Amino acid sequence: LERQLLQAQKLEGIGVLAGGIAHDFNNLLTAIIGGAEIALNDIAPGSKGAKAIHGVMDAATRAADLTRQILAFSRKQVLSIKELNLNDEVLSQTKMLRRLISEDIKFQVKLTPEELCIKADAGQLQQVLLNLAVNARDAMSPGGTLTIETGTVMLQRSDRWLEEGMPPGRYAVISVSDTGMGMDEDTKSRIFEPFFTTKGPGEGTGLGLSTVHGVVKQHQGSISVYSEPGKGTTFRIYLPRVERIEAAQAAPEAAPIPRGK
Ligand code: ADP
Repeated sequence: LERQLLQAQKLEGIGVLAGGIAHDFNNLLTAIIGGAEIALNDIAPGSKGAKAIHGVMDAATRAADLTRQILAFSRKQVLSIKELNLNDEVLSQTKMLRRLISEDIKFQVKLTPEELCIKADAGQLQQVLLNLAVNARDAMSPGGTLTIETGTVMLQRSDRWLEEGMPPGRYAVISVSDTGMGMDEDTKSRIFEPFFTTKGPGEGTGLGLSTVHGVVKQHQGSISVYSEPGKGTTFRIYLPRVERIEAAQAAPEAAPIPRGK
């Protein structure tokens, strides 16, 4: 998995580079489309020349759509980090998630009784849950069960989910499990690659899990995957916890400002 994550990071780097190129490319395409529109006004409608220019515009418009997709993926969002209660965040999403899943799939949410405080961007966290839930839904047939669970786990120095920059200790965990088709080793080793998908054209972009991975990394967390073909899959996300005591200390009394001289 370590190698797999390294690979995903490398590909994320490529994504950022591609985003830069896509941005410049999009500007050039705008110039091409604009120029073609002007030329079209000057040419007899229905002529050979007009048809050719229409062809140029169609191709340039398609290219612009594609670059927009790449841009949307590679653009790093500025995070709005706040202290959040993890259970509250999950609860606030359940209605929306329930609507995504068909009636014949059981949906259960198991929240830890513990109060779990994390520092995170609520919108990004929502994006993560959404992507994982959509994938779980797609992997299941009627009768399946989707479970979202919160809890904590102790990550030791020797633990494989403790990635570089993560201090050992107790972490908040959100897990998303399904009883779906699972993944073979080959698929599992590639899921975090941007554009890797086993879904049909128009059904999958292959950007869901690479986005999830990027968000989790930005939150100084990590992600684990357990999957068995024919049985199901569990994704677990480990996020640093904020101690409540720390929050109390974060609001010191106003210190007197020393006067110069
Ligand atoms: P997409 O969903 O657009 O294909 P993702 O990056 O979200 O892109 O997922 C990549 C691939 O990982 C999927 O095409 C699928 O093969 C596999 N996958 C992800 N989640 C699951 C799951 N819960 N069960 C089985 N396979 C999964």
